[in-house]
Amino acid sequence: MPLSFDIVSNPNPTSAARLAQILANPGFVNHFSDHMAQATWTAAQGWHDSAVTAFDAWAMSPGSAVFHYAQEIFEGLKVYRHQDGTIWLFRPEMNAQRLQRSASRLDLPQLTVEDFLTSVNALARVDEAWVPSGDEMSYYMRPFMVADEAFLGVHSASRVRYAVIGGPAAPYLADGMTPVDIWVTTTYSRAGDGGTGGVKCGGNYASALAAQREGSQHGCPQVLFTDAAHHEWIEELGGMNFFAVRSDGMLITPPTAGTILEGITRDSILTLAPSLGLTPDVRPLSIAELLDGIATGQIREAFACGTAAVVTPIGRLTHRVNGVVESADLAEPLGEATSAIRKALVDIQWGRAEDRFGWMHRVGQ
Ligand SMILES: *Cc1c(COP(=O)(O)O)cnc(C)c1O
Repeated sequence: MPLSFDIVSNPNPTSAARLAQILANPGFVNHFSDHMAQATWTAAQGWHDSAVTAFDAWAMSPGSAVFHYAQEIFEGLKVYRHQDGTIWLFRPEMNAQRLQRSASRLDLPQLTVEDFLTSVNALARVDEAWVPSGDEMSYYMRPFMVADEAFLGVHSASRVRYAVIGGPAAPYLADGMTPVDIWVTTTYSRAGDGGTGGVKCGGNYASALAAQREGSQHGCPQVLFTDAAHHEWIEELGGMNFFAVRSDGMLITPPTAGTILEGITRDSILTLAPSLGLTPDVRPLSIAELLDGIATGQIREAFACGTAAVVTPIGRLTHRVNGVVESADLAEPLGEATSAIRKALVDIQWGRAEDRFGWMHRVGQ
């Protein structure tokens, strides 16, 4: 039976005046909207109690499994307002399918693609007024699932909560297309063979924080992780996939292969590349090849990508070689390829370009 996410309206919604204030300066989800979608799963009953209700705190036992063993997964997607006022989702079925893969890996229950889509559509509809209309503004949604059984033994929870929360978002990196400096860590790993690197779970982010601190100590706000076994091959950032552009038009990104998250932005860029005169080249890329390419001028652009920040140009790579910290500057971080890819993608998302691949789903249709 498909779940229904019927609406139980928030009895104390945000006033129009206050909402206008929030939308004028939303930050990146500094404010959650008036509602949330949620459902409960138990081993005995399956999914039940699904509804859209007022955004509110949860009462959870301090013994709840998620607090101890991090059985948690999540998704991130945006609602885009087009110029005619309609609101849209970008490839939401990909988020639904990825949540299913994450659930399998963390031994959480499956939510059908249909139920996922119903939940995100229901929240987008009820809080439609929270979807901003400014340039590159959006409503960012966070579907997630947590183990909620109060039991300190280690086993998969027999009680689970699913919810979708969200709020208005200005561009993720306040200065949009300003190149970001990257620390290439060979101290920490985010993923190993057979681990959870290929799925979206909070634990991956928790374990990346120390690397982020290491990066910030070297003046870099973002970290690029390398393979856990040799620290020789480029993998991805803590929450974004990595691309390098070669001057012969090759668009290089490493294969996901279990340790790299299958980004929807990454997949969309690989699909759009040929129409921009670029050739997708999905293959392992070593730090040595990358640095050598930068030194010889064969690699002049590199960027990170993900739903939140879309495409972020990389200005400089800093890393430690034989105990010495060295930097390499990309010649043209805001180069033609990076700009063209970003534009092609955001133009589809905000409805300014033809949706040739059927990626956009209108909310409420
Ligand atoms: C979410 C995420 C990405 C980006 O995925 P998108 O679907 O493009 O938003 C990349 N890497 C990691 C580790 C992530 O968690």
